[in-house]
Amino acid sequence: MNSPALSEPILVLNKNWLPIRISTVRRALVLVWKDLARIIEPNNYALYDFESWADLSVAHGEHCVRTVSMQIKIPEVIVLKHCDHFKQPEVIFSRRNIFKRDKNTCQYCGTRLPTEDLTIDHVLPRSKGGSSSWTNCVVACCQCNSKKGNTLLQNLDMKLIKEPQKPPAPMAFSLPIGRRKKSWEHFVSEAYWNIELKD
Ligand SMILES: [Zn+2]
Repeated sequence: MNSPALSEPILVLNKNWLPIRISTVRRALVLVWKDLARIIEPNNYALYDFESWADLSVAHGEHCVRTVSMQIKIPEVIVLKHCDHFKQPEVIFSRRNIFKRDKNTCQYCGTRLPTEDLTIDHVLPRSKGGSSSWTNCVVACCQCNSKKGNTLLQNLDMKLIKEPQKPPAPMAFSLPIGRRKKSWEHFVSEAYWNIELKD
């Protein structure tokens, strides 16, 4: 099979029907052909394996992949049968990403500052067994950081603006808007797209 249509983007859902990434029609058809995924018809949510999809007739003028013996409609969404393929990349736990998650804002007093005027604070101090992790590290201004020092938060007149959490996977920051297909909107909420475009 060789056709420019094979390079078109396709939405990949995990087995719980949550969007996990964008792939190409070529790669998606291979997964379906290997019986690792099913094609979804976005208008009625019907599921197709490779054979039943290839049996669908292609309307005159409709976009398709041509092989020697057949024409295959271009799928736009697939759902994986298992969880193992296309592992979603994790957000790397790094200083840069903590600043990004907390939007350069002190998580105690809410002041937004340039990176060089901020520090990383361990909510439960390291000296008391606090880990270096997404849920225990926050951005803090120098003033709040020195006020807090090695004291436990509950012993101080200080509160976190919000509980620190691991940020969503990087796909949420990198999907090019021009490659979206209309049919994907059945599977991806507007809120999701909005989050995506902020960064
Ligand atoms: Zn502060």
